[in-house]
Amino acid sequence: MSTCAEFVRTQNISGTDSKVSRLSRQNREILQSEVITFACIPEFPHSHRYNLLMSKKLILFLIPFALAIAGIYLYFNFRRTSARTAQVIQWLRDPSSHPELMMTAGARCGDAPFVFPTDGMAGFIWDDSFRPGHRHQGIDIFAGTDVGVTPVYAAYPGYLTRQADWKSTVIVRVPEDPLKPARQIWVYYTHLADANGASFISEQFPPGTTEVYVETGTLLGYQGNYSGDPNNPVGVHLHISIVKDNFGSFMNELEIDNTYDPSPYFNLPLNANRNKEDVPVCN
Ligand SMILES: [Zn+2]
Repeated sequence: MSTCAEFVRTQNISGTDSKVSRLSRQNREILQSEVITFACIPEFPHSHRYNLLMSKKLILFLIPFALAIAGIYLYFNFRRTSARTAQVIQWLRDPSSHPELMMTAGARCGDAPFVFPTDGMAGFIWDDSFRPGHRHQGIDIFAGTDVGVTPVYAAYPGYLTRQADWKSTVIVRVPEDPLKPARQIWVYYTHLADANGASFISEQFPPGTTEVYVETGTLLGYQGNYSGDPNNPVGVHLHISIVKDNFGSFMNELEIDNTYDPSPYFNLPLNANRNKEDVPVCN
């Protein structure tokens, strides 16, 4: 213990920098005593150099484990998406080759509360992952057509809002969640514009629209490829998600935790954790 204290005290005297010397005598004593206390807690006889060597060895030892964990993470994250992705790519090349993957606008699967909002293939579903750390918050329905061609309809009745700066998005407030009437939910529809942001939203809903009642099947607009970056548009599709309510407002749709698993609303296997490979359909 005394050896340790001596060592630190020597360090302090020889290594006193200008900042420390500007401190009052009292402060300096406090500082020194803290340094001593801190330095003396681990009573190891090792030198600093030895500790460094040990840290290096430890890091080298841990690298293979870190790589293995990263590999396992990537494997499980992408395996579930890759089989579906392969089907999407194949289908987009030639939509007529797999008509059985196609859903029709207005289709209701069994006793689902929501109808399918547009023609197309539900190529990416809730909690699919496109890149490490990414979790998809909704369903992507690909029409296989050009932009501005395939209609998008309301999947469920509610009150539509389109904020003043929304080119490609509308959101519909559903005061009573059909699955849990005590709570309010929001249904979010996006990519209804071309790459440059020319809107395909129905003229019924100009920018700044608030709380306009829409029935199931009301035409909202047309599928587009707007991403916000004209040089890097998305494939033509509708992204639809079910967003949580926070004291009367919709939460940030970009976070999966702010959305609900859409499976029970459509009565389709739309949760990637349970449906790892298949394109969901009901016919
Ligand atoms: Zn999406």
